[in-house]
Amino acid sequence: MKMLINGDFVDKDEHHEVINPYNSEVVDTVPIGDRGDVNYAIESANIAKKELYDLSAKEISNNLFEASLELEDMRDKIAKLIVLEAGKPYKQALVEMDRSIETLRFCSEEAKRIYGESVPLDATGSVDERFMAFTRKVPLGVVGAITPFNYPVNLALHKIAPAIAAKNTVVMKPSMEAPLAALKLVEIINNHFPKGVINSVCGYGSEIGDAIVVSNDIDKITFTGSVATGLFLSSRAGMKKLTLELGGNDPLIVLDDANIEKAVDACVSGAFYFSGQVCIGIKRVILDNKIADEFLSLFVEKTSKLNLGDPMDINTDIGPLINETAAINVEKSIDSAINDGAELLLGGERKDCFIQPTILDNVNMSMNIVANETFGPVAPIIRVNGVDEAIKVANDTQYGLQSGVFTENIHNALKCAEEIESGSVLINKESTFRTDSMPFGGFKSSGIGKEGIKYAVEEMSKTKLIAFNCR
Ligand code: NAD
Repeated sequence: MKMLINGDFVDKDEHHEVINPYNSEVVDTVPIGDRGDVNYAIESANIAKKELYDLSAKEISNNLFEASLELEDMRDKIAKLIVLEAGKPYKQALVEMDRSIETLRFCSEEAKRIYGESVPLDATGSVDERFMAFTRKVPLGVVGAITPFNYPVNLALHKIAPAIAAKNTVVMKPSMEAPLAALKLVEIINNHFPKGVINSVCGYGSEIGDAIVVSNDIDKITFTGSVATGLFLSSRAGMKKLTLELGGNDPLIVLDDANIEKAVDACVSGAFYFSGQVCIGIKRVILDNKIADEFLSLFVEKTSKLNLGDPMDINTDIGPLINETAAINVEKSIDSAINDGAELLLGGERKDCFIQPTILDNVNMSMNIVANETFGPVAPIIRVNGVDEAIKVANDTQYGLQSGVFTENIHNALKCAEEIESGSVLINKESTFRTDSMPFGGFKSSGIGKEGIKYAVEEMSKTKLIAFNCR
């Protein structure tokens, strides 16, 4: 597959092999771009700004809608590409495609709702003057979008589509672990907009990503990825606007008054979806001691029923991790937790890129498996006594993306909603929940800024004041 710059496919002499983590076969190759390609993409995006700006909101909305129809036609083909390059189970890749079609449609609608407001300038200042004043939302210019491997289409769209809805042009760099579906997405968007509005550049983060981040001809960086990369990138971005959607260590709290069956179902889904490689996956299960044994016996029983195998099989729940290094790192964290006193209730074994769904009891916050984000199918159990201790443990982390709490008691629910430090607190719902209508983005080290279509469009715009002196 090729990059797309200024409406043309671009190839290079050097290529990167995209490997299927299930069977180690080469799925396809992508060109390894250089700084010259980044500069060409940025220049093309800057030139395309005027043509995009001259389109009406209705035209942009229609074009985004047309793109969503083309994406819908390609739903199955792109879902299979995600399975091959990322090892995502097919049924979950289809969910990602459905989400992506919806994201494009939401952006198509939001393109028609970009409002300013009237401003009462006579609230202060000279009494002799009377102003008519209002604000307009204007585009930032060129947006640099850098995305991770785990939701290659939907997370790219959470950047590209709001950027274009707000009349920004885009230079996009997909993850080299899973670039194929994202490149296909860029092709589709390009089919519906003037050349140069959307450009893709492939290459390694330290070179191509960095060239985008440091460029003086880019107005905003929107990044989704790990805290380490986000921190580094923010030190390189200078005065640009930044949206950083970073890692998580999301808790699921189950209090002694919870509906245990519902909490267990939420936990099976939230801890093991895409083998735990989800930023808002459940990374810590905080159980009140009074219900812990009952919860765990059902949790082990239901988790044992997950199907591990070929991700292309529609019945598969658990596929491989993105590569063997990632799987080895998760295995090391499991082994180290067991050495430090955690009790293995289920799983724990690695074969190639696969890690069995793993449940570890008696974990504490000093263990690496919960002190840092573990991107694998592991449910570490931390036992507590009562709501106060549960909240204290939930907050005992540098992360603050989302949180889930199961309780049937309104006072406990309100207390958790008030005191847990994360971008969202979901009562009787696991953290692994995101819709396009909600503001999405973490507190603490989990990021800066919000996505969610309305909020992303806001962050892709700047506010200009216009005032008429009417006297
Ligand atoms: P990563 O940080 O390794 O890479 C993300 C992107 O950054 C890739 O495209 C990579 O090439 C690029 N990159 C790497 N170094 C760079 C540099 N110096 N300058 C510019 N770009 C650079 O992340 P990953 O392993 O692909 O994804 C997993 C991480 O992403 C996890 O931490 C996960 O929690 C996080 N994530 C967060 C969200 C969210 O919305 N908060 C969503 C999905 C994933």
